[in-house]
Amino acid sequence: MDTRDAAKYDFGRGKMNEKAIHDRLVEHGQTLFRAPKQLIQFTRLDDANALLNDLSTHPHAFVLACVMDRQIKAEKAWLIPYRIAEKLGGFSLDSLLRLSPADVNRLMSQPEPLHRFVDMMSGLFHSAVQRISKQYGGDASRIWAGNPSSAEVVYRFLEFDGVGPKIGSMAVNILARDFKIQFADFFSIDISADRHIRRVFARLGLCAPNATVEQVIYKAKALHPEFPGMMDLPCWEIGRNWCKAREPKCGACYMKDLCPSANGKK
Ligand code: SF4
Repeated sequence: MDTRDAAKYDFGRGKMNEKAIHDRLVEHGQTLFRAPKQLIQFTRLDDANALLNDLSTHPHAFVLACVMDRQIKAEKAWLIPYRIAEKLGGFSLDSLLRLSPADVNRLMSQPEPLHRFVDMMSGLFHSAVQRISKQYGGDASRIWAGNPSSAEVVYRFLEFDGVGPKIGSMAVNILARDFKIQFADFFSIDISADRHIRRVFARLGLCAPNATVEQVIYKAKALHPEFPGMMDLPCWEIGRNWCKAREPKCGACYMKDLCPSANGKK
């Protein structure tokens, strides 16, 4: 086999392995997607989880937690609505609407800061409450009501100050996969390329080790265009449970027979 034939052979073999990796990640993603609805463990506090899972009467708690999910650990960000509810004695949208920007800042900064960037995040919190009131008549569940397209709902999240594509896709993915909200399609639910997902994509050989966030997002689109975000939770779980930054536990990882970086392989 000459050099060019060998390169073609390697490319073909690489593509076959990539397809096998895609198939297994999607299979696991579908299992998670089809699982019965259960309480989502956003935090380790039962009362906070109850508030965040209550899309019937407090859908704004979920939306506001998404808005807060920036530049700190997710679990801390998702506790913010509950910590404010504790201080206010409830979390009705009416009670939130009565708060001035200075009130929200005080609630988020005293006695201890609820976020690393209280000044900026309290402004985003206040702005989101106003938007839910003005744009959605005080009912945040209208953001995803009526079987909308995934693009429409990601766009509605992007309209909130401070929300970018990563959080927009994450929010709609959680609504579809975990809350079982109906959408007309899943094309615009992208992978949310956090550090776990970028590391797993690189080690699985789907992207280069130094791939940008955009490269990871577009690789996921290329692999599974009808629902790129289907691979999000499987990759995140692999990264969190086995594919640690240091000393990956390949022996326990269900990708080990396909993974080019698994221990013992070149
Ligand atoms: S087999 Fe090892 S290197 Fe590959 S994804 Fe799993 S833990 Fe990571």
